[in-house]
Amino acid sequence: MDLGIRGKWGIVEAASKGLGKGSAAALAAEGVNLILNARGKETLEDTAAEIKEANPDIQLLTFAGDITEPQVRDALIKMAPQIDILVTNAGGPAPGNFRTDTRERWLAALEAQLIGHADMITKVVDGMVARKFGRIVNITSASVKMPVENLGLSTAARMALTGFASTISRELVQHNVVINNLLPGPFETDRLTGNMRFAAEQAGEAYEDVYAARVSKNPAKRFGTAEEFGAVCAFLCSTHVGFMTAQNVLMDGGAFPGNI
Ligand code: NAP
Repeated sequence: MDLGIRGKWGIVEAASKGLGKGSAAALAAEGVNLILNARGKETLEDTAAEIKEANPDIQLLTFAGDITEPQVRDALIKMAPQIDILVTNAGGPAPGNFRTDTRERWLAALEAQLIGHADMITKVVDGMVARKFGRIVNITSASVKMPVENLGLSTAARMALTGFASTISRELVQHNVVINNLLPGPFETDRLTGNMRFAAEQAGEAYEDVYAARVSKNPAKRFGTAEEFGAVCAFLCSTHVGFMTAQNVLMDGGAFPGNI
């Protein structure tokens, strides 16, 4: 299937590793010109070089910086002639028992998972409306549908972003600007292995045992891959989703225990 987005310009936030990188690679394979962001310059440049080597025809720019900082977001937007596609993403807050969630932790989580993304969306949508094309994908989490122990902060902030996106999407869809959320369940990235190490420490168990237990609990009997995630993200950025907005697309190997 031709996704119809060759030559468009897209920003992928937090894209040097994991799900952001998978999304960037899939968009690049569809011919999308990209601006990639992450904080660590070296890994970001390595990722950009890898993607560019596989897709020599696209234009690929990078900007190293913390996406929670307003000046970083402004810089990203200014780098391209126009923004047609935006994939919002950031590292999730460190897991923790809610009793240790200080005001500072709350504010940091809201900044990373809500305020920064809402700000970026707000800054790009009017240009998209004017050009009658816009695709926004928020990388949120399966925890939006089903709570995950020790991730209360992250879930609360992501649910707020979901509500914001849902509200504004009704105004934007008539202009062929759509916003959908992609909800990862367990994908084998640094984030997942970090969370499992935390869980193992808390429970006094071996990391390998926690890993094996998590895999066996998933109906797919494996974790997802960044490539699988990226392919779905690219589809949600395609010309084919103009009649689909404010949806929460869950990728979790069937772990969500409901019919709908
Ligand atoms: P990952 O493998 O740890 O990669 C995170 C990426 O984000 C890295 O490129 C990192 O690079 C960048 N990053 C982190 N904080 C940033 C910031 N403030 N500004 C700019 N870039 C930043 O994580 P992942 O698994 O891809 O997770 C991506 C998102 O999905 C996270 O919010 C995570 O909580 C969520 N999620 C993941 C899973 C899963 O199973 N993997 C499940 C549910 C939800 P730098 O460190 O160099 O900045």
